[in-house]
Amino acid sequence: MPTPPPNSAEARDVLFHLHSQTNAQAHAERGPLIMERGEGIHVFDSHGRKYVEAMAGLWCTSLGFSHARLKRAAAEAYDRFGFYHTFNHKTPAATIDLAERLVAMGPIPEAQAYFATSGSEATETMVKLAWVYHAVRGKPTKRKVISRDRGFHGSTIVAASMCGLPRMHREFGLPLPGFLHTLCPDPYRGPQPGEDISAFVARLADSLEAMILEEGADTIAAFIAEPINAGGGIIVPPAGYFPAIEAVLRRHDILVLGDEVVCGFGRTGEMWGATTTGMTPDMIAMAKGISSSYFPISAVLLSKPIQDALARMNEGGEIFGHGFTNSGHPVGVAVALETLAVYREMDVVAHTQRMGARLRAGLDAIAARSGIVGQVRGAGLMIGVELVADPATKTAFDPALKAGARFDAAALANGLVIRPMGDTIGLCPPLIIDEAGIDEILSLFDRTLAEVERDLP
Ligand code: PLP
Repeated sequence: MPTPPPNSAEARDVLFHLHSQTNAQAHAERGPLIMERGEGIHVFDSHGRKYVEAMAGLWCTSLGFSHARLKRAAAEAYDRFGFYHTFNHKTPAATIDLAERLVAMGPIPEAQAYFATSGSEATETMVKLAWVYHAVRGKPTKRKVISRDRGFHGSTIVAASMCGLPRMHREFGLPLPGFLHTLCPDPYRGPQPGEDISAFVARLADSLEAMILEEGADTIAAFIAEPINAGGGIIVPPAGYFPAIEAVLRRHDILVLGDEVVCGFGRTGEMWGATTTGMTPDMIAMAKGISSSYFPISAVLLSKPIQDALARMNEGGEIFGHGFTNSGHPVGVAVALETLAVYREMDVVAHTQRMGARLRAGLDAIAARSGIVGQVRGAGLMIGVELVADPATKTAFDPALKAGARFDAAALANGLVIRPMGDTIGLCPPLIIDEAGIDEILSLFDRTLAEVERDLP
């Protein structure tokens, strides 16, 4: 990029703004991509260039970037009040409606909803509730949490400790003690030579149980997993994985925590990733799709036994010592209620299945013509395309070639926003996408892949 004038937005961004998940040196060299507005599945940058946002921002905007009903719902909520809270017996009325709605649609029977503002707060809340659950039942030593390699659960200290991605730990001295990681159920890269999928699943369950026995089951509170890993490269676990894992966990009185922050609300072609993958969690965390990210709001659903433990903890008049200022914020709640109404009216699950099948079929056809696609994988409208040097042998590209980053740059130049995760290209478009939108993504993806394949040595 040519050096921007000193007072340009680009120069000021480099000077004043620390970016999330961005390399600072690379940012200083290339500067920001400044996005100005959105329209449906498209966004426009400060030079007026149009992009298909095939990542829904950060797996977020299921209803696209300009949904009139969500804007109206927020404006009407602001007309009532700009803020109210849920501490000390108080609540905005709409917060009750959203709790009831989430419980009715959630995958946990007789649940209760707890509200927060980010996915990280929701995953951390689940850990605290797991600690309470065990402590109240006379098992206060059950404190450790097992998560998985290539999992992502957020950026605050406990949430980051639960991530299974080195960049979330390296410079931060994480994970905290007591946060353990077990194997990732990647059916493409995980099985050993000659190992079939059922043997692979059995090995994953055995290795989890060996970890539990070595640590002592009386020290372990919970296991957390995304039904389908998102940021770790869109990994769909093999059939039978969660039943096998959960049998081990139940045997050792370890709670199962589902991270539905990306998978929830239709993304995987079912309302919940848990349904898609056969997971039966005791608690789930949700965010992003709950409001199409038009307002920062997240929630946890907790099962009846956990509610009962909380009630016992509070016997004697102590209050529940947990809460965020913006838990159950009336504007976020109003936006979420409207988002859920739109999902119901558009039949988001059926629509996602149809559009997901079209995207998947198109990508499979592109992959068949390409010499650098190892695997197309995913569920619903959450699809990963892994680029490899040799599909026949699954040989990865030399990391120095930065195949994923090359694809990202070429895609942007073609007007397509994707997410490179190593050499896996993530696609997670808004769920309102129609056939024309899918075909636009496919055509830009095809062109980008051909360019990358031609330019790679
Ligand atoms: N869990 C998953 C699966 C996520 O993908 C993310 C964010 O991308 C989070 C948790 C953390 O959410 P937040 O960034 O809102 O804290």
